[in-house]
Amino acid sequence: MADKSGLVDLTIWQLSTLLRKKEVSSKEVTEAYLERIEAVDPKVKAYITVTADQALRAAEEADKRIASGDHRPLTGVPIGLKDVLCTEGIPTTCASKILEHFVPPYDATVVARLKDEGAVFLGKLNMDEFAMGSSTENSAFFPTRNPWSLDRIPGGSSGGSGAAVAARIACAALGSDTGGSIRQPASHCGVVGMKPTYGRVSRYGLVAFASSLDQIGPMTRDVRDCAILLNSIAGFDPKDSTSYPGEVPDFTSALGKELNGMRIGVPKEYFGHGIEEGVESAIKRAISLLEENGAQIKEVSLPHTEYAVAAYYIIAPAEASSNLMRYDGVKYGLRATGYKNLLDMYKETRSQGFGPEVKRRIMLGTYSLSSGYYDAYYKKASQVRTIIRDDFLKAFSECDCLITPVAPTPPFKIGEKVDDPLQMYLSDIFTIPVNLAGLPGISIPCALTEDGLPVGVQFIAPPFREDTLIHVGSTYEGLRGPVAPWPEL
Ligand code: GLN
Repeated sequence: MADKSGLVDLTIWQLSTLLRKKEVSSKEVTEAYLERIEAVDPKVKAYITVTADQALRAAEEADKRIASGDHRPLTGVPIGLKDVLCTEGIPTTCASKILEHFVPPYDATVVARLKDEGAVFLGKLNMDEFAMGSSTENSAFFPTRNPWSLDRIPGGSSGGSGAAVAARIACAALGSDTGGSIRQPASHCGVVGMKPTYGRVSRYGLVAFASSLDQIGPMTRDVRDCAILLNSIAGFDPKDSTSYPGEVPDFTSALGKELNGMRIGVPKEYFGHGIEEGVESAIKRAISLLEENGAQIKEVSLPHTEYAVAAYYIIAPAEASSNLMRYDGVKYGLRATGYKNLLDMYKETRSQGFGPEVKRRIMLGTYSLSSGYYDAYYKKASQVRTIIRDDFLKAFSECDCLITPVAPTPPFKIGEKVDDPLQMYLSDIFTIPVNLAGLPGISIPCALTEDGLPVGVQFIAPPFREDTLIHVGSTYEGLRGPVAPWPEL
């Protein structure tokens, strides 16, 4: 290929075709990405670790594989990984001081699967510490910037992943989503992001935040790429007892089908209060477009939506406080120096190693799990969770999927909400219920605001119906047409 400058603009499927036809080599593509990372990442700051040497070696391997006729959709494609996924021999920090020098001895299952397919890893992407946050400002190292407007947040917690895909410093990325951490940064960065059904993708090797809510998912330039990446990471894993043993369909076969009377529900509780005008009007335009093209739009009700954020902020911190007990300075991670005795070592290690938001969650969680409080808080929140799931299942008896906003506002300015945790928590109001109910959800770019900031639209489907999300999402994407050229940088 004569002109290499456009390589970083290609989607997975475009690149994959060129690689298969040997019109370009993985080495050339990987070099183009590494050059762009050097030029652009100092502005965006998406990467915590760039693994240039390993990437070039993997690219050479991929080229050999392709030459031998063994080509899979991701062979030779450069991908970024959120730094919450364990990578053998490569630091996995969770954007925390406590894991700053932690080098896992094994790969997460999703990482191993992508490796088997011959994907090339460019490095590890920034995030909110332990995935707690909505702006990537809670990284212990540095904030990531939104490629569409560098003084704004990219969303979070998978902000590095969203920013890298939009800035074309990764062809695609993996993120994790506990309360919105894939969909909200996807919305803010103008990329596609999917949280699969709980259990669809193995969590083995994903550093745990809230184990009953966490899922890994793709962040990509378009819906076709999302289907391709989901195909490779989905499926049963004996190493994760919560992974789903059922068949995994070929998600690409759901692409671009007619809407043919698909029933799309509009939950009335997701509109009106607290949502910015520019966001609401963008979602309403998406709804009209789908209706004009054959979808049946129905208003539905999810009456317990208003309790979702409260229930989440009991359940997630409770599970986090338990999961994070393992960072005690004994087996791995940071150990403070200059302590007086064992207890003091624990205390010093955790005081120095965790940032303020993580400490806040540990305190909230420890409080709500303490004896005498369990029934009033954790048990109550779990009951609310069941009611919220029932709301969704009832809505799905009347429709095939739901359409909603992703976040109530476009990306805000860096620093704007750091001192107001409640405001920050409320930015996940439309994504959290999906995790509580264990459902699949996707964010797809929908419009730019008058200020040129991306807005995403969310589709939510019944359990294990990611195919419905790929179907309606890809069709919507086709009807919508291009939103805007990628930001220059
Ligand atoms: N912003 C939410 C939180 O801070 C969700 C984070 C996530 O999905 N990992 O908990």
